[in-house]
Amino acid sequence: MAFKRSDKHAQAVGEQVRKLITEAKIEDEALLGIGIAMPGLVDTATGTVVYGRVIDNEGFTAEHFRPHLPADAVILHDSYAGGLAEAWAWGNLDNAFHISLNESVGGSVIFHNEVFRLEDGYPGEVGHITVDPGGEQCYCGMSGCVETVCSSTKLLDAGAQTMEEFFAILERDTKAAKAWDTYTDFLAITIRNIRALFGGEVILGGEVGAHMGPYLRDVWVKVENMALFGEHVKDYVKLSKQERHPVAAGAALHFIQEFLQDPGPQED
Ligand SMILES: [Zn+2]
Repeated sequence: MAFKRSDKHAQAVGEQVRKLITEAKIEDEALLGIGIAMPGLVDTATGTVVYGRVIDNEGFTAEHFRPHLPADAVILHDSYAGGLAEAWAWGNLDNAFHISLNESVGGSVIFHNEVFRLEDGYPGEVGHITVDPGGEQCYCGMSGCVETVCSSTKLLDAGAQTMEEFFAILERDTKAAKAWDTYTDFLAITIRNIRALFGGEVILGGEVGAHMGPYLRDVWVKVENMALFGEHVKDYVKLSKQERHPVAAGAALHFIQEFLQDPGPQED
């Protein structure tokens, strides 16, 4: 079900949520809330999508969905949700940067196992760092952003339907191998820049991170060739631990973490 700017779409989302809750046999009263993660910058204070060009959702708030949902709802930036899920899966990330390598590229900064957020600002927007000056035009108005060279579509354009299929044909398909070579050239530059800025672990997530498995070594080799300060790349370039539906898991974790921090009045 593709996103549409309409009440009919919000209603369809509500119906899917209702179906899921019924199947899971959960009472409405037991729901802490419903997290909705979307591509686009979300104002932390108001929960409004203030910049949404990937799926045309600018101006959206949770109010759009609330009439169709059985519990409180909140809209979260998808890369923030991905970071939440990653921190939860590791449990001990002191200083890390999580890159969401999906159709759109996002990132989140994790300090002391918490995703860094600002009331006024959007940290972690690695997708819009320039790595290919004069390269392809990005929707943000600049050209050669990480978004334009490390999007999962750059790999799928080689002729695969899914990331699983792409990595299955990679060994024997020259077009796929060429796409991977170019992709990892830019990913390595991106990783090097992130490491120079934050000095912590760089975690490769999203659809690409979840499927690259043994091909992580190709990334290691390229980063190693331009490694900073003689550091050992294997020590800090790692794959995500939250392979399955990280964005959805992170959206749910928003409410779970709130609850764990303040469970409310306890029954005797
Ligand atoms: Zn951009």
